[in-house]
Amino acid sequence: MDKNKENIGKILEILEKNYYGAGSELVFNNPFQLLIATILSAQCTDRQVNRVTPELFERYPTAEEMARLEPEELEKHIRSCGFYKTKARNIIATCKILMEEYEGKVPGDIKTLQTLPGVGRKTANVVASNAFGVPAIAVDTHVFRVSNRLGLANARNVLETEKQLMENVPVEKWSAAHNWIIHHGRRICNARKPKCNICFLSPYCSYYHDEIKGYEL
Ligand code: SF4
Repeated sequence: MDKNKENIGKILEILEKNYYGAGSELVFNNPFQLLIATILSAQCTDRQVNRVTPELFERYPTAEEMARLEPEELEKHIRSCGFYKTKARNIIATCKILMEEYEGKVPGDIKTLQTLPGVGRKTANVVASNAFGVPAIAVDTHVFRVSNRLGLANARNVLETEKQLMENVPVEKWSAAHNWIIHHGRRICNARKPKCNICFLSPYCSYYHDEIKGYEL
C-alpha cells in the first residue's frame, strides 16, 4: 500500500474510533424535519436551528401545513436563523412541490432533492445520507477545512473536495466519515485555532507537519 493510502487508512481508523456513532447534530424525527432543519442551517449554527425547530414542527408538522403558510408567518418563527426571508420563501415553495409532486413525502435521491428550492448539493447529500442511508459525503465548511488539513483531500473548492473524498474513503464509510469529520472540526480542528496540541490525529496530519511541526523543529 502506498504511503498516502496508508496514512488515509490510519486517519479514518482513528476518526472512527473516536467518533463512532456520531450523527447529525440537527435534531429531527423524520426526513421532512431533517430537510427543513438543513435548509435552515445554511449560514447558521445547528444549535440555533435546534432552538427554533421544536416549536416550528409542533405547529406545522407536515409539508401540507407548511405549504399553506404565508411567508410572513413562517418568517416569525425562523427569524433568528438568518436569511429568514429567503429561507421562508424556499421552505414554502419546497413544501408546495412536495405536496404537488411527491404526495407530501421527501424524495430520497440526491438528484431529485437538488431540484427543490433552497436545496443545494450539500443539503441534498445531508438529507439523503442521514435520512435515507444513501452513501454521500456532504462537504460543508468543517468537512472542507478538516479534510484538506488532514490530507484526506487536497482541493481548492468543495466540489473537488467531495470528489477526492469519494475516491479516498471507502463507499460504505462515506456517510459516517462525513459526520466524524464534522465532529472533529467542531471539537478540535477549529477554523481559527486548531487544537493541534491535543489532537490525536497530529502524527498523520499534513497541516500539522507542514505548518506546526515545521516551526517547532
Ligand atoms: S493536527 Fe491540528 S490541523 Fe491537524 S487535524 Fe488535528 S487539530 Fe486539525
